[in-house]
Amino acid sequence: MNSSFISMVDKAKRYAQEPDRIAFAALEVEFRGINGTHRVALHGQTWSCECEHFRMHALCAHVMTLQRRFADHLSAEVRYTQEKITA
Ligand SMILES: [Zn+2]
Repeated sequence: MNSSFISMVDKAKRYAQEPDRIAFAALEVEFRGINGTHRVALHGQTWSCECEHFRMHALCAHVMTLQRRFADHLSAEVRYTQEKITA
């Protein structure tokens, strides 16, 4: 193994211990929920989900799960969101 490869692996190991180095600018997943599979996405500072609850309230358990799961890699603006209250 050459030395540049070894130093690359060492750097990757160090970086992997520092999750705040990585911030998602975009993310798209297939989320297998209890009632079906939904495509959940983050583009810039906007979350989206195909589910009915998100369509009504702009927030759902699927988005909230990703916010918890990947909190280390999300900016403060998208780590927490407020549910829209319909009057
Ligand atoms: Zn959803």
